[in-house]
Amino acid sequence: MSTEERTTSALIINSNFVVPPDGVIVTNFVFDNEPQFKSRVRTKPLQHFVLHETAGRTAVGCKTSLLRKGYGVHLILARDGGVSCHGDLANDVMVHANQLNDTSVGIEVVNPYAPKIAGKMNVQTLPAQWWTWCPDREDRRYVLPSQAQLKTLSILVPWLCDKLGIPYEFPTGHFSKKLRKIKGWRKAPLGWRAKPAPGVVAHQDFASHADGRFLLGYLMQNTAN
Ligand SMILES: [Zn+2]
Repeated sequence: MSTEERTTSALIINSNFVVPPDGVIVTNFVFDNEPQFKSRVRTKPLQHFVLHETAGRTAVGCKTSLLRKGYGVHLILARDGGVSCHGDLANDVMVHANQLNDTSVGIEVVNPYAPKIAGKMNVQTLPAQWWTWCPDREDRRYVLPSQAQLKTLSILVPWLCDKLGIPYEFPTGHFSKKLRKIKGWRKAPLGWRAKPAPGVVAHQDFASHADGRFLLGYLMQNTAN
């Protein structure tokens, strides 16, 4: 990787420093002391952009937890809308998305998700939807991501899909209370698990997780063009 092109804000794609779109600030593992998460070399074409939520309060907490578990994710979107880059988006496979690890790039949006986890944080909430995980049965609400996070997400995801050759489409967008996850997502006797068609998907759409669905709906409704 060439270090002569140092920029103050850069994503790392295909061993190059790439200036993010206007309005997005990125720190990375090369110049900004961000952790580089464990990865292996990508050998299959990129097809999916996976949306995650941390169910935690801070970006630092997310990084510590991923490092401890030996997992990873390419990008973390902090509460203030800033992005950190923890691997090469094109070349590094990280453990974050079950059967989509090999073909995906992932972003973790730092969000407590449930009021119980938000504690005393100042947050806005929505009544629980069909996709909402409620650890406290007495408090059926979803904690919204910050406005700064949603703004960054709506700029960055379509831009990155274009850069990475991932279709900016929503193959699971029609999921509902009646069809909550892709058919065949559970591990079959031969170890096979169904994958969504290429595009932007929520972690919850294809695995035993509950994150990303609000973000997916937001992107579907707030995409320029
Ligand atoms: Zn997830």
